[in-house]
Amino acid sequence: MGIRKEKTLVIATKNRGKMREFSRALAGLGFEFLSLHDFPDLGPIVEDGSTFLENACKKATAAARYSKLPALADDSGLEVDYLGGAPGVLSARFAGRDGDDEANNSKLLHLLSGVPYRERRARFRCALAVATPEDLLVTAEGFLEGYIGLEPRGKGGFGYDPLFVVPEYNCTLAETELETKNRISHRGRALEQLRGRLQELSVALGWDRCESV
Ligand code: IMP
Repeated sequence: MGIRKEKTLVIATKNRGKMREFSRALAGLGFEFLSLHDFPDLGPIVEDGSTFLENACKKATAAARYSKLPALADDSGLEVDYLGGAPGVLSARFAGRDGDDEANNSKLLHLLSGVPYRERRARFRCALAVATPEDLLVTAEGFLEGYIGLEPRGKGGFGYDPLFVVPEYNCTLAETELETKNRISHRGRALEQLRGRLQELSVALGWDRCESV
């Protein structure tokens, strides 16, 4: 008995940590998961949208068309109110080089130097999109409100975690347990919403009734 094509979900990432978090959050829905490691010839998808949602939809659609399977993509980042929403969709490359967390954090602290704590309001935002090869789209969004701290704190997490203070916990995301972060984070909340919508999509498209092939 083979796998049902419709119940295979390509998670459009090569990041193994993300792959683990996403497949855990969507476990029990009957999907088999693949990643972009299973499609090595799919070239990079340019993230040139002006919103997280636009980028997530673009990546999911490209992966679904290429793989001919339903595909899930995400885009996330940090919005700082004092900076008019920056770094936003440029979060990964705020200081120039893609994924240079230390430089990104230094730039952020520099731009906020002298700004009092109460004016350092920020949020992490995550957009998720599942596209089918026929270009149907299901989306979900999540966010986590907080403040940008005056200095980095904590060793866990990645990206802006050491600067992102969660007021309810009175600590930065880099100081929280991974399990706690996954539960309260923008990605965790978006995944929870997506889970419900994927279930509805499966019913609407009859994926749960598909014969094994
Ligand atoms: P991506 O869309 O998940 O690749 O995230 C883009 C960028 O946003 C990352 O390189 C980080 O700088 C930032 N970011 C997204 N999610 C998080 C998070 O949970 N903690 C810290 N930084 C994050």
